[in-house]
Amino acid sequence: MEQLWAPWRLSYVATAKAPATDDPCFICRGLADDDDRANLIALRTPLSTVVLNRFPYNNGHLLVAPRAHKGQLDELAPAELLETMETLRRMVRVLDGLMKPDGYNIGLNLGHAAGAGLPGHLHWHVVPRWHGDTNFMPVVSDVKVIVQSLDALWELVTARLREEG
Ligand SMILES: [Zn+2]
Repeated sequence: MEQLWAPWRLSYVATAKAPATDDPCFICRGLADDDDRANLIALRTPLSTVVLNRFPYNNGHLLVAPRAHKGQLDELAPAELLETMETLRRMVRVLDGLMKPDGYNIGLNLGHAAGAGLPGHLHWHVVPRWHGDTNFMPVVSDVKVIVQSLDALWELVTARLREEG
């Protein structure tokens, strides 16, 4: 398992161009489409969604977001905030079962200055961590390898979600 997922450990900066600010929102674009696999959408709930990070910092890196395109915490209705956090908790449980990480970094980059790549649509990063993983950060240049790994992760996560019911 550790070997299978090793190609994932890559640097966003080294492999990906940051989207231009006027690009359409990739979360909304994915939600408007019906191919969740191609869009890496792992889960839709009435008010929230889960998208695999196309440029992961680590194995299993997910984004948990409200479905509505809102960029400020104050814009979220209580039900949206609650459901998004419930989904976040659920995804940690799913990743626990799939990957047994030693811990997580979970966080929200609020605004450009804080490093948000998509400042218009709130999304919480869920990054599984393993002891010693910072010692191993090779740059992956073969994009196909990354895409296959993302597809495999999508399959694992959605299968697990279906099992949970
Ligand atoms: Zn959006």
